[in-house]
Amino acid sequence: MDPELKYPADADLRRLLRFAPDKGEIWLGEYRMLLLHTAALTALRQDLINSVGPEHARRLLTRMGSSAGLRDAEFAKKTRSDRSLNEMFLVGPQLHMLEGAARVTPLKMVFDVAAGSFEGEFRWDDSWEAYAHRQKYGVVDEPVCWTLLGYASGYTTAFMGRLILFKEVACAACGADHCHIVGRPIENWPDGEAHRQYFADDSLLQKIEALSLQVEALTSTLEPAQGGMLVGASKVFRRAHELMQRAAKTHVTVLLTGETGVGKERFARALHEMSDRAHAPFVAVNCAALPAELIEAELFGVEKGAYTGAHATRAGRFERADGGTLFLDEVGELPLPAQAKLLRVLQESEIERLGGETTRKVNVRLVAATNVDLDDAVKSGRFRRDLLYRLNIYPIRIPPLRERQTDIEPLAQNMLARFSALHHKRLAGFGDRAMQALHRYDWPGNVRELENLVERGVILASQGDTVELEHLFPNQPEVAQAGLDHRGQLVEVTPQQHQELCARIVDSGIPLDALEAQVLALAVERSLGNLSGAARLVGMTRPQLAYRLKRRLADDPTEEGDR
Ligand SMILES: [Zn+2]
Repeated sequence: MDPELKYPADADLRRLLRFAPDKGEIWLGEYRMLLLHTAALTALRQDLINSVGPEHARRLLTRMGSSAGLRDAEFAKKTRSDRSLNEMFLVGPQLHMLEGAARVTPLKMVFDVAAGSFEGEFRWDDSWEAYAHRQKYGVVDEPVCWTLLGYASGYTTAFMGRLILFKEVACAACGADHCHIVGRPIENWPDGEAHRQYFADDSLLQKIEALSLQVEALTSTLEPAQGGMLVGASKVFRRAHELMQRAAKTHVTVLLTGETGVGKERFARALHEMSDRAHAPFVAVNCAALPAELIEAELFGVEKGAYTGAHATRAGRFERADGGTLFLDEVGELPLPAQAKLLRVLQESEIERLGGETTRKVNVRLVAATNVDLDDAVKSGRFRRDLLYRLNIYPIRIPPLRERQTDIEPLAQNMLARFSALHHKRLAGFGDRAMQALHRYDWPGNVRELENLVERGVILASQGDTVELEHLFPNQPEVAQAGLDHRGQLVEVTPQQHQELCARIVDSGIPLDALEAQVLALAVERSLGNLSGAARLVGMTRPQLAYRLKRRLADDPTEEGDR
């Protein structure tokens, strides 16, 4: 052995190791130590690997070793401050042995603290960690003396004042006779940067938290019923949304009106989620979906034996919504006897189960919805006037989709993203003709119809492609030749109708040029001067339309006299 690498006597170190069993303490100089069973540490090490995985376990153990090495470097500087630098450095390996990690033999030690250069090689015989690992996992491919390496790196780093990375070039856990380690500044290792992570503080909890936030965000986009799914920037939509936000802060009964498919339940859920009842249940009932003879039991609950078939006592939806929100969809379909009971619940805030003798207090915010005109229903005797007054305190009209032209694209894009995730598709958006058709269509089924169409489109489009017109309307090829109805909305034109329209134009004798001028003017008028909208109506791009309009302006009637 190089005489420089010969260990000095370690009496100075041993002297500082004091057992104080009376006090229940062990000290190394001024550092409190612990005598541990390797079996206990082995069990902890294995638990770590099992619970957080080998990579994260390696990080935790490296950091633990490094922290010990750092303390021992402080100890070395104090203990051998009057000795040569080599002898001072050798405190590390000597302490590592005294602490029982392994038998350490220095093979090479070249360093210059001022210049920051370091090159070291050591041999470890009987590393406790290699033994522990091999005992549990047998011979493995990668070196495993993570705590020991952490110690060597931490010790040398503290000693040198820069990050020195030690790696095992051989490890007893991989079947070698002993472990062999090499250390140098991290920058001098070709793969050094990849090892920096083992010394960095990295909270698994923070990672889990970030992941669960991601999951939450994903589920809320995938869950169509969430209030967060309300998409829209059009004026009519914003107005409805604003009314809803204001109602959310109060306990007022809300009546949502609007055509079928406009998203009344979604509004009701959003209202619930924005309210201080968000933590309590949201219970939805579709009055039209329940048979008339069951609806009262369903709403108000039933006592066992109340009627034939009432085999068990059951709480109604009102009770289940206690503290939260009850959404009564299609309330206009409620039979008259149930209407009378509902009115009483709203007045008294208490319910009585069918066949029950006692009343129960309930604290429920009611949101009702209807797609029929309740005033008409009152006039025809199908709906109680007093109940209508009670429900109609705060009506919100949800606009049909055709009144929300500007919302169609953002809605469709949002649905595309959602259904792509759901059906594992990566799609490049909508084709131009597809988007044009979405804008032109009349949407009798409103947002729900759009949703069905987009989902079908996502399923039919090929991976990586755009969603095209034929994916949205696969059974209606004629939509591609759609015309406009009196409101400027798309109507489906059959090839025969197309033929007839052409025949009439020819018969009318209107010059094609004049016809074009009129069609363009009409399109601009219908889209309220919005050229992009007008271009969509006539199946052109905006530049194409602008060019034609400009050309027309240039041929203005003022020049007509010259013709
Ligand atoms: Zn090893």
